[in-house]
Amino acid sequence: MHRELTTNSQHNPANDSPFHDVERMEQDVRDIIDALALLGVKRCIRCRKFFQMSEPGNLFDFGQLVCFGCIPDWWSSYSKQLNSTNREEVERKLSSWLRKYHRAELVREAPATLESTEFQIVTTCGECRGSGKILDGQRCRFCNGLGTVWIVVPK
Ligand SMILES: [Zn+2]
Ligand SMILES: [Zn+2]
Repeated sequence: MHRELTTNSQHNPANDSPFHDVERMEQDVRDIIDALALLGVKRCIRCRKFFQMSEPGNLFDFGQLVCFGCIPDWWSSYSKQLNSTNREEVERKLSSWLRKYHRAELVREAPATLESTEFQIVTTCGECRGSGKILDGQRCRFCNGLGTVWIVVPK
């Protein structure tokens, strides 16, 4: 109460400064984002758009959240930062998420035509863990010995 009186009687320019407004606005924005999270709305780390979490195909959760539309760009930069153990784990998750919610298929070679695909990403073959060989030294039949498979998402 005393403080309020002081502020009112002795006009303090610091409290009216644009900086102060920006700070308060930033706090408001943080509060709103928290409130949205409570309502089940979360944000893509890449495009910053909000998505409804009740629709599990909207956002891919790998510890952080990235939306379906951002997957190709995000993956091409993010996969380079991962060591092979982490990469395998995220690839496994991503691949099953894309298959479950976006009708993705695993194929051995890049599709010849891109017209019918939404996007495609190349990942380590989960069967031979990228070696191209299975236990007895034979060529892995899941990736034709290439060690990689394509995840193709149809339109
Ligand atoms: Zn996004
Ligand atoms: Zn393989």
